[in-house]
Amino acid sequence: MPYLQIDSQKFLHNYQIILNTIAPKNHEKIAIVLKDNAYGHGLKQIAELAKRVKIQSTFVKNTYEALEIINFFHHITILYPDSLPCDSYLKAALKAPNIYFCAPSLETLQSYPQGTKVELKVDSGMHRNGIAKEDLNKAFSIIAKNNLNLKGIFTHIGFGDDFGSEFYTQNMEFSNIKQESLQLCTHYKLPKPRFHSLSSSGAFHAKDFHHRLPQDLQDDLFRIGIAFYGYLCQDSAFAMPNLQPIAALFAKRISTLNLKSGARIGYSGASALNQESAVSTYDIGYGDGLFRLHEGMEILSAEGFKILPRASMDCISIESTQEEICIFNDARIFARAFNTIPYEILSHLHAYIPKIII
Ligand SMILES: *Cc1c(COP(=O)(O)O)cnc(C)c1O
Repeated sequence: MPYLQIDSQKFLHNYQIILNTIAPKNHEKIAIVLKDNAYGHGLKQIAELAKRVKIQSTFVKNTYEALEIINFFHHITILYPDSLPCDSYLKAALKAPNIYFCAPSLETLQSYPQGTKVELKVDSGMHRNGIAKEDLNKAFSIIAKNNLNLKGIFTHIGFGDDFGSEFYTQNMEFSNIKQESLQLCTHYKLPKPRFHSLSSSGAFHAKDFHHRLPQDLQDDLFRIGIAFYGYLCQDSAFAMPNLQPIAALFAKRISTLNLKSGARIGYSGASALNQESAVSTYDIGYGDGLFRLHEGMEILSAEGFKILPRASMDCISIESTQEEICIFNDARIFARAFNTIPYEILSHLHAYIPKIII
């Protein structure tokens, strides 16, 4: 049985770095992003760790995820409420006092029943999800007319990883959106919603800039995902905080063969031995969400054993006889080999891989 080991001490260590860097005096401003099964780490397991450090706000993908962790947080926002077509989940989530619904368009906003707790998403320059700034007025009139409960106004800053001015341009744009929203709140006699815009890398960079904004235009929340899991994927010009990857992926030995020099292994004999060696298979493959190693790739296990291409759907071959192998304890090894980012490597790991918290 493969398993994902989650190190609670490393999680606490990352939390301290996040807190001390981003909001040392305002721990309630740190929200954790748990979408997509907590980036593959296990939704409930990470929610439990977040609860231990008294994090109160979280962001999830769909109604199922929100209901799974309903008892762990005061504020749970569903980023993609329409991504799961299940009426009973939707009904339960709408009733829950601590579950909020993201509204990324006027159409979505229109579709919510009276009393729905919404967080309005506004485009500030990433041009992805969110209503246009010019439509803020319309959104407020829908909120007032349909008696929606406006909990938050937020945007997503798409330049947090990059060294350049676009990041600040987008932050200023959101600042204008906040100003306009406050006026609209006064006009419609609505209480001030919470404001938020920054994910991990942006929050690490914007802290000084942010503290210089007038109090009522500062963000109330930072939506931190990847940094909790131990990574930041930013331009190398930035100083790198000492975050620690919290997950290590292990697999167990299925069988071992003592093979002669020249023996070829796996589909199409893609790997060939240049000396006599013992080769074992281990019980994880691309069917479990681990990316598929193929010809020309050289990846070592955390212990330094060679993982032999090609990977199969449910197993991989490794030049080792150990009972158990640590496939990785840092997803950057796989991310580099596959020319992608740790987010993708981690979020692909199957939800049914058991999680062991140490
Ligand atoms: C995923 C996500 C985040 C977290 O981003 P990280 O880079 O993992 O910190 C924040 N906000 C929104 C809207 C997201 O979808």
